[in-house]
Amino acid sequence: MISIEQAIDEAMRYARTFLPEGKVATYIPELAHGDPGQLGVCLITKDGTVYHDGDWQQEFTIQSISKTICLIFALQTAGYEKVFSKVGVEPTGDAFNSIVKLETKTLHPLNPMINAGAIATASCCMDLEDPFGAFMDLTRRLCGRESIQLNESVYLSEKKSGMRNRSMAYLMQSDNILECDAELALDLYFRMCSVSVTTEDLARYAVVLANDGVDPATGERLVENWIVRIVKTLMVTCGMYDGSGEFAMKVGIPAKSGVGGGIMASVEDRMGIAAFGPALDAKGNSVGAYRVLEYLSQALRLHYFAGK
Ligand code: GLU
Repeated sequence: MISIEQAIDEAMRYARTFLPEGKVATYIPELAHGDPGQLGVCLITKDGTVYHDGDWQQEFTIQSISKTICLIFALQTAGYEKVFSKVGVEPTGDAFNSIVKLETKTLHPLNPMINAGAIATASCCMDLEDPFGAFMDLTRRLCGRESIQLNESVYLSEKKSGMRNRSMAYLMQSDNILECDAELALDLYFRMCSVSVTTEDLARYAVVLANDGVDPATGERLVENWIVRIVKTLMVTCGMYDGSGEFAMKVGIPAKSGVGGGIMASVEDRMGIAAFGPALDAKGNSVGAYRVLEYLSQALRLHYFAGK
């Protein structure tokens, strides 16, 4: 098998050829400033070796990758029963911001990885005195960086332009699904999406998940085993929007993507990988980050069914 360095080098060259096919997200006005030519990757193995290339140190907003941390946070603070009385665990086959099944399929959002599901999940965390502060503490511990901050301008831009999310939240409030007022749940949701991270932050988080919730650098358990299992299962079935089935087939790593251009992927018992590139495909997945992971999966035999 080729070395990790060589695989990353080849993956980056392969992925760059696809960048012209993607477009930067513009529906959140602040995201439109992203540079579609950027591409970065960071890979951290369980033994702590760090590999990186390209724009790996560029900060970007975590966006929907925060939905995995929101789920951990809600399960830790509100518990299994409450969270899964608000949200299901089935893939939707629809876009991440679709509202249609809230009316036609079941009143509850189908899973915590879509916008409606994350807003309902966030609403379960309001008993805390400072929910966003506690969420930030957890995020900083999972990513191993104390200095992680909110990107204030993206947060304000989301809050101002997020009418689709607002309509879902009010619909859920009218059906008694939210545990708090719609605007409170939305504010926490918008803040969670606007946390600023690098590929190194997300690769550190991914290796914690790969290591069953224990930080391999310190030996400290950050997430309970039963929660890690739930989160990684939902990453497999729902983590890549309505492209989750194709990603499972072609790449085969539990992963979560966000419209800021990041994808975080957790290779069981082996490594965490995060890739970033703001140019997105029609489903909202980063074109470049997707291709980096596709290449690495083949070159390093990372697919969960790679065989012997
Ligand atoms: N903040 C974004 C939204 O609410 C998150 C979308 C995403 O990354 O999938 O639309």
